[in-house]
Amino acid sequence: MLPAQVTMNSASANLVEIFSSIQGEGLLAGVRQIFLRFQGCILRCAYCDTYATQGNEAPEFCRIETDPGSGEFCLVKNPVSMQVVQKTLSNWTENFPKVHHSLSLTGGEPLVHAENLQKWLPVLDGILPVYLETNGILVDELKQCINYLDYISMDFKLSSTTGSHCMWEKHQAFLEIAATKFVFVKVVISDITTVEEIQTACEIILSVDNNITLILQPLSSPDGNTEITVSNLLRLQEIASSLIPNVRVIPQMHKFLHVL
Ligand code: SF4
Repeated sequence: MLPAQVTMNSASANLVEIFSSIQGEGLLAGVRQIFLRFQGCILRCAYCDTYATQGNEAPEFCRIETDPGSGEFCLVKNPVSMQVVQKTLSNWTENFPKVHHSLSLTGGEPLVHAENLQKWLPVLDGILPVYLETNGILVDELKQCINYLDYISMDFKLSSTTGSHCMWEKHQAFLEIAATKFVFVKVVISDITTVEEIQTACEIILSVDNNITLILQPLSSPDGNTEITVSNLLRLQEIASSLIPNVRVIPQMHKFLHVL
């Protein structure tokens, strides 16, 4: 069930921002994307760096970059209509051709807007390939949107770093659907991440498709300093690599680049 605060109507959604930047996480780190940041999430991860999207109150305005990469924004009142989003993206892709690799749906958790996304995605997917960044638990909502997704970056939420309980069964069900598309799994790790957590993550990947990549993403502060020792990082990498073939250690690059 969606939080009551997430506004849903026929073609409008509460957005936090639309901007152009470099993808800083996961297997597609380094590509230029247009980011559509949705308001609202059903989790409260301890390390969340997008608190503005978690609040019970939707922001009054969505900020939209005036030109991609300009760092200057105009304000549009929430909820934002699909027409405004479509016009912004079409202008950017026409005036700045071949600059952007894909459109990143991020948040918050974009899938809390699945009802709206079903209407938006046929249009958005015609403008740029669609990349979903998700917490990997909203299984029914993913089913509603999967046909229009090109790339899926899903998290397995580890209790060692989120401070919440694990949701392995939901992650497994989610990954089984996501695996019909290009998908990779990301776990945020720290010095207190356990061997058992990494083993369970690998077992789920093995049960779905052993070619799926697992990204070990060190927990990091806003300035990019990681909160895991090298020896612990390498130990977790060794455990994962002993169980599945595709393991990568990738920190949050956007923090080093100081981009949005
Ligand atoms: S799932 Fe993502 S947006 Fe939601 S609380 Fe966790 S880190 Fe923040």
